[in-house]
Amino acid sequence: MNGLFVTGTDTEVGKTAVAGALAWAFRRRGIDVGVMKPVATGCRREEGGLVSDDARRLLEAAQAADPLDLVSPYRFAPPVAPLVALQQGSSISLDRIEEAFRALSDRHEILLVEGIGGLLVPLDAEATVADLARRLRLPLLIVARAGLGTINQTLLTLEAARSAGLEVLGVVLNRRPPRPSLAERTNPQVIESRGKVPILGVIPDLSAPSPGRLAAHLKAGEILDRLRSRPVEERRRIRRLARLDRRRIWHPFTQMADWAKGEPLVVESGEGVHLTDTKGRRYLDGVSSLWVNLHGHANRDLDAALRGQAGRIAHSTLLGAANVPSIELAEELARIAPPGLTRTFYSDSGSTAVEIALKMAFQYWRQNGSPRRRRFLHFVNAYHGDTIGSVSVGGIDLFHRTYRPLLFKGFKVPSPYCYRCPLKLAYPSCGIACLKPFEKAVRAHRREIAAVVVEPALQGAAGVITQPKGWLKRVERVCRKNGLLLIADEVAVGFGRTGRMFACEGEKVRPDFLCVAKGLSGGYLPLAATLTTERIYRGFLGSHGSLRTFFHGHSYTGNPLACAVALENLRIFRRERVLERLKPKVRLFAEELKRFSRLPHVGEVRQRGLIAGIELVKEKRRKAPYRWEEKIGIRVCQFLRGRGILLRPLGNVIVLMPPLAISADQIRLLCREACAAIEAVTRG
Ligand SMILES: *Cc1c(COP(=O)(O)O)cnc(C)c1O
Repeated sequence: MNGLFVTGTDTEVGKTAVAGALAWAFRRRGIDVGVMKPVATGCRREEGGLVSDDARRLLEAAQAADPLDLVSPYRFAPPVAPLVALQQGSSISLDRIEEAFRALSDRHEILLVEGIGGLLVPLDAEATVADLARRLRLPLLIVARAGLGTINQTLLTLEAARSAGLEVLGVVLNRRPPRPSLAERTNPQVIESRGKVPILGVIPDLSAPSPGRLAAHLKAGEILDRLRSRPVEERRRIRRLARLDRRRIWHPFTQMADWAKGEPLVVESGEGVHLTDTKGRRYLDGVSSLWVNLHGHANRDLDAALRGQAGRIAHSTLLGAANVPSIELAEELARIAPPGLTRTFYSDSGSTAVEIALKMAFQYWRQNGSPRRRRFLHFVNAYHGDTIGSVSVGGIDLFHRTYRPLLFKGFKVPSPYCYRCPLKLAYPSCGIACLKPFEKAVRAHRREIAAVVVEPALQGAAGVITQPKGWLKRVERVCRKNGLLLIADEVAVGFGRTGRMFACEGEKVRPDFLCVAKGLSGGYLPLAATLTTERIYRGFLGSHGSLRTFFHGHSYTGNPLACAVALENLRIFRRERVLERLKPKVRLFAEELKRFSRLPHVGEVRQRGLIAGIELVKEKRRKAPYRWEEKIGIRVCQFLRGRGILLRPLGNVIVLMPPLAISADQIRLLCREACAAIEAVTRG
């Protein structure tokens, strides 16, 4: 799709005149040019409906004869902003505009799309003109009025365009008076140098409305050349990126020999729960970009928080100084965390958050009278990250086996996996008998154990293996009775994923350490925190010479950009009542998930909040798993990719973990498509 989005620094700056003149000039050069004025206000009522004079003028200049419903899918009579013209409760669908745009693109070589007002004009309660330009993936031509104030207006528009991720082709200045003042004469150069943008025309007089006359003042040839070379350059760029990815990048948890054979999906932009790749294909992000995103991509408020902080400072260290956002965030975390967790230690990933909790627990006992407590008790199928310390307390053989010689030894005990209960028992009549080995290990080693490390509610990376009700509470009780510290790893389940802010709340568990990362920054930036109690904190106090200091820290600890975004993430929870609005979504999700259980190759469907794991089995009655080589999960996800849905499996488990911002319709779509994909792939 090729085209240009004509926008202005203001309304009434001559966008339609410039777009018309360009259409005329292109047409004269033999280009089949189409026009679009997707949202038109101030329309006249005629027989057959509302008619936009602007759209008519554009069509005339382009000598195009497309139906008005494609050229202007949204037409309003009042000459006011679309947001105001819209009837209460209705909205403007970018999908619908994009559809019309695609239809027109099929008919023409180049499309000129005229925006409405300036970039930040709201189209409806959600979208702005900039969002529309972003969606159509078109470069901008900015029309500005020549005269006093032009520089400021134009530079502001350029800034808005660039911070919305838009490409600017150039600027056209309008209505330069016959005897320009010094300002008007120098404006173009200042805009070019300060805005780093070419001036593609200076039009003296708009009152002579013939497009041909106006076109004489535009660098139409240059604009056309740029537009015509774009598709070629674009294809070259896409191929180059794919090639370089294969040549330069080593992807995590990926067999690169397989990767090199395939075509990489290169994500270029996002919007809400959708991702767009370099080829312009849109995907529903069904795993929240690996469990991190909460409120959608390119979230307006998070973007603004990020930019606002970038305008102040991007980074300063917490070693020897404090910074504003990290203080505010720590206060907010203490407010929302389970009671007693009042101290925050920052780092940058879930792995380091866990690593820090381990080191703190270890050192705490060392300098508080129990130096023999230096081992960790952890669970089979646990995943706590990929650094050596966090792998040492992990329990997924597939990931961890190789590194065993590097790891420190702890006590690994079974965790619940009700679907494949090794004791062949059933909940609740089992009385959670799988806790016995845990209790036994504690009895035997209580004086050697520093802490118990656990993922509350479910073991995510092992395949969303959910814990039976009461399991976590009993783990906590055993810890309390035996004086063990409890480390809760809420890196995956924290921040609303399970329907509660933290999964610990589900069983009113109060850990000594709470590790958070992934969703902490709303899925924007690498940020993690290890929260702990005053008791642990005080265990590190002493004189300088006592060496009770916690000797740990990262260069980017407490990064202000990440903390500012995280703070806004938490504000969104409050302002938009995210947890409350999640409840009906979770119910709908549960309802929609029922369809999976009926499939012949679905063994179990496990759900907590907006997290679901669908375990595929080769043979349902015997619960026989697919073999690793069969890549069943990978194949289902590949199938879904072709249907515009992005998922990442865990072995034979299909994981659905959409952003909390997902809508009811999108939940239905996600489940319907995933179900169809499983059916299609397992049948084959
Ligand atoms: C993802 C994850 C981690 C590791 O977090 P990273 O930011 O990837 O290092 C730790 N624990 C759990 C439960 C996780 O899901």
